[in-house]
Amino acid sequence: MAYDRNNVFARILRGEIPCSKVHEDEHTLAFKDINPQAPVHIVLIPKGEYVSADDFAATAGEAELAAFWRAVGRIAREQGIADSGYRILANHGAAAHQEVPHFHLHIFGGRDLGAMLPRR
Ligand code: AMP
Repeated sequence: MAYDRNNVFARILRGEIPCSKVHEDEHTLAFKDINPQAPVHIVLIPKGEYVSADDFAATAGEAELAAFWRAVGRIAREQGIADSGYRILANHGAAAHQEVPHFHLHIFGGRDLGAMLPRR
């Protein structure tokens, strides 16, 4: 799947639409989710053009991969959820209902998050 440069996170990265930024470094940007599912709900994205988790895992450089995972821990600590517990989640593709085709990780916390997946 080709990268769509008009997806909403690409537009946030270009400064075309605002975000509530909580972290930024050379390789990553993190901001509050516009439709939060928990008291803390942060979206972490790489600055590079990666469609999905699959794309990022396969093609990102070592520095980007390291910065991304360091950012997860740093954000959790800064948001005050590292001790109480948090969940990280990435939706890849149709079965997971990925809405925005720029790889992103959700970071949830601030309450008991319940079971890993809703029962059907
Ligand atoms: P996903 O289903 O994993 O692709 O999730 C996309 C997430 O992006 C959803 O949780 C949305 O609420 C969130 N989102 C969409 N537009 C924005 C925006 N402009 N700022 C912050 N979060 C957004």
